[in-house]
Amino acid sequence: MIQEIELPIRSRCFYRPLAFKQEVARNVGVQPEDIQHIEILRKSIDGRARFPIYRVFMRVYTTPDTYQKPFKNLKLPAVLKGKPVLVVGMGPAGLFAAYTLAMNGHKPILLERGRDVHRRKKDVGGLCQRAELDTESNYCFGEGGAGCFSDGKLYTRSNKRGDVQHILDVLIHYGANPEIAYEAHPHIGSDMLPRVVERMRNEIVMVGGEVHYETRVEDFLLEGNRCIGVRDQNGKEYRAAAVILACGHSAEDIYEWFYTRGYAIEGKDWAMGVRLEHPQEVIDMMQYRQRAADWELPPAEYGFSAQVNGRGVFSFCMCPGGMIIPSMTHPSRFLVNGMSGSRRASPWANAGIIVTVRQSDAAAYAAEYGPLAGLKFQQALEEKFSALDPAMAPAQRMVDFLKGRESANLPSTSYPLGVYPALLNDILPSFIADSLQAGLSEFCAKRPAFYTEEAVMVGLESRTSSTVVLPRNPETMEHVQIKNLYPCGEGAGYAGGITSSAIDGVNCANKLLWNLKREIALSLNI
Ligand SMILES: Cc1cc2nc3c(=O)[nH]c(=O)nc-3n(C[C@H](O)[C@H](O)[C@H](O)COP(=O)(O)OP(=O)(O)OC[C@H]3O[C@@H](n4cnc5c(N)ncnc54)[C@H](O)[C@@H]3O)c2cc1C
Repeated sequence: MIQEIELPIRSRCFYRPLAFKQEVARNVGVQPEDIQHIEILRKSIDGRARFPIYRVFMRVYTTPDTYQKPFKNLKLPAVLKGKPVLVVGMGPAGLFAAYTLAMNGHKPILLERGRDVHRRKKDVGGLCQRAELDTESNYCFGEGGAGCFSDGKLYTRSNKRGDVQHILDVLIHYGANPEIAYEAHPHIGSDMLPRVVERMRNEIVMVGGEVHYETRVEDFLLEGNRCIGVRDQNGKEYRAAAVILACGHSAEDIYEWFYTRGYAIEGKDWAMGVRLEHPQEVIDMMQYRQRAADWELPPAEYGFSAQVNGRGVFSFCMCPGGMIIPSMTHPSRFLVNGMSGSRRASPWANAGIIVTVRQSDAAAYAAEYGPLAGLKFQQALEEKFSALDPAMAPAQRMVDFLKGRESANLPSTSYPLGVYPALLNDILPSFIADSLQAGLSEFCAKRPAFYTEEAVMVGLESRTSSTVVLPRNPETMEHVQIKNLYPCGEGAGYAGGITSSAIDGVNCANKLLWNLKREIALSLNI
């Protein structure tokens, strides 16, 4: 017999297989030894209950039914016989595009401006410990892309765009914790994700794919309106049947290429603000009303949103048990982001608290830079923050920010290069500062525990998504003016986050394969 049930389960019980089986058996009305398999379909935390509990939705198989693990073929074929395809960028979009191409027998040639994930770890270490920025290998650039050293949150609202489960299955296949398949809010963590990326790349290479690091694409080779390849910073040319451009949201030089050569690129709204850090225990008490450790619960998360004068103010990329990191790509621009390890074990909780930035906010740059006005606005603010100090971060207690005064002192924070007191109310553009004040006041009114002397705001959170879109032909997914060129992922404006970028990588690769087949069929007059 197979039964689907949802049970409230205490954490202590969930992670003890025998106790869990007994609890499930009691609820299903069988003996524990009659249970052949429990397939967890979804697990979430219910903090509203008197004691925080897990809600577990599961399928229970009892004898004499035989449970058969569904077979998913995720192994790449041994030989790649199809036409080679260039993939620019090894973030989730590029990696999943390459994996999909290889799965279908095509050789991906991956070009990545940064270093391999192992050397990249050392480079971000140098940045965090000695403020040494490598402009090609940092928290945004290098194998694994922008989210490689992140919290590795995998939940997405883009279920309609593609098969989220497939992305999770592939990540599990390459070593991610199998729990991500059913967690309501799955995450991997910056200690695990690099290993997954490395295994995925190794298999792509093993079956015949190519990877070129420290290879920055600077030019696209065109024959009429067809892209036939790319040229790197050393003038070396790479040619292939098509190019997937998965360069991420910090590839300013690529955007400049489109704009200065007159190819279609459009500005879009995005968001900017600060990182807000609380002691994790404050957030645990706010969400669970208990200390997480006492109940063997994971560090608590939060999510807030408000509308202030028609502008969105919201929490973004929350990192429980995480740290704030310097995520600049340029020596004279300053910005931060957040990350955490798989265990989310630090004593701090941080999140971006950001405000929608409209294209009209960057109007001052529009005459000179057209669709790149938003990018120039972003750069100017990052430069303003860097001019204050290129490595240390300006910070202010949230209570002082709300009262419009500088903090006399600051609590310790997770930011590795140190913080100094600053009046963020004045440094941020007034529309961002005012919206943050109103939005945060609303969040604190909703959840008074959020309002605490210990909460500190650290600036600047500026690269939440791309400021531009590289428009695609909706039918073929190629750039609207350049055939065989597939703008892909977050940098092209079609995703925002690890999972949605990976989905876009899969979708672009599948569409490209379909277009290639169609072209062959047309040429053969079939
Ligand atoms: C610190 C941090 C934490 C984050 N945390 C999360 C999170 O927890 N969950 C989540 O969903 N999202 C998170 N994000 C966002 C997420 O990382 C991005 O949405 C995602 O990585 C975008 O994927 P992508 O493949 O489109 O681009 P990217 O990941 O940005 O990858 C683009 C790649 O292209 C390379 N590249 C750029 N230009 C060139 C060029 N000219 N030639 C060759 N290569 C080039 C870059 O080096 C990079 O490796 C985080 C981002 C950061 C920076």
